[in-house]
Amino acid sequence: MRRHGFGTRCVHSGEGENPFGVHATPIYQTSSYAFSDAEQAEAVFSGRAPGYVYARSPPHTPTHKALTDKMASLEGSESALAFSSGMAALAAVVLGHMGNGDHLISTDVIYGGTYGLLQNVLPRYGIEVSFADSTDPEAVSAAIRGNTRMILLESPSNPILGVTDIAEIAGIARDNGALTVVDNTFASPCLQRPLELGADVVVESCTKYIGGHSDLLGGIAACKAELVKPIRRLAVSMGGTMGTAEAWLCLRGLKTLHLRMERHCSNALALARFLEDHPLVEKVMYPGLKSHPQHELAARQMAGPGGMLSFQLSGGRQAVRRMFGALHLCAIAVSLGAVDTLIEHPASMTHAVMPKPLRLSLGISDGLVRISAGIEDALDIQEDLRQALNAVS
Ligand code: PLP
Repeated sequence: MRRHGFGTRCVHSGEGENPFGVHATPIYQTSSYAFSDAEQAEAVFSGRAPGYVYARSPPHTPTHKALTDKMASLEGSESALAFSSGMAALAAVVLGHMGNGDHLISTDVIYGGTYGLLQNVLPRYGIEVSFADSTDPEAVSAAIRGNTRMILLESPSNPILGVTDIAEIAGIARDNGALTVVDNTFASPCLQRPLELGADVVVESCTKYIGGHSDLLGGIAACKAELVKPIRRLAVSMGGTMGTAEAWLCLRGLKTLHLRMERHCSNALALARFLEDHPLVEKVMYPGLKSHPQHELAARQMAGPGGMLSFQLSGGRQAVRRMFGALHLCAIAVSLGAVDTLIEHPASMTHAVMPKPLRLSLGISDGLVRISAGIEDALDIQEDLRQALNAVS
């Protein structure tokens, strides 16, 4: 039988356990489970019989199970685990698969929170970290060491939208006995499926497009069954479990992911074109524009260029302050993937953790503005940006 398309899987996949024939998966709000006798408890705890043991231990609850089954279907993975945030998922993947003396190579332009984990936390546990421009495979090859165990990619990257050739880097990793982990948060599985491109593990912050409505925190790690054990161990031991209500909100958000992503992409493209023609805008970074250095790679690797874009405003921080002060419709907020348009200033918000010289060397200048295009009418967002830019000059 033909495999269902992505949109059909968004609506129907997972959500298998349905003892009462309910139409919507319920929120199973329980921390523990009761067993009929000691034999049954022993069988489930030992893994000899299927079942749930405690809400901190995967599969947590039938609500979580519905979500992880749906995510595995959408990512094309054998297994998926749910976490309390994207950072909890990423930390469990990295710490689950790495230890004292191992080396990790990361994309140089990454979310500030991930930078904090890699730069400030991992070295305290004996994990060596180096950063490379992953849009340049030669730079990644040159960064390989004898003890390299993981290459962590973020593509498109936050906040300058660099696009990495996932298949090519995964090949380099494989040749050197390392795992490829992709933070797919900017694309979502609707636009990019790293496992199908040869990556080993994919991480998503569900806080963004998967939830889609700015009302939850969550994370997912999806991978082959053979890689899941160490991540699962970390999930149980560190306890960064997704809440049951959040799992339910993710399930609800996923049912419209494919529709929302279409509108996020078309709005982002309209805004990118508008900004590219604006006299106060020095540069627009959006994979859907021909001027983007990896435009062709993005068209090949992704099903759409995404809802995220950045631009360089002339006049630096002062100009950004004036522009932000004049906005009416766009919300000045971090995070992304919401139904409403969000705008932020990476230098003072999402990437403030990076030392200034590093930030500037990566192109995260004081005039850089990041937009998460919402699903409003494109013309209304454009008019809000136009009148806010008028306030700058
Ligand atoms: N990865 C990327 C690319 C992000 O932008 C973020 C948050 O903004 C995260 C991971 C972390 O996700 P969370 O806030 O759910 O921990």
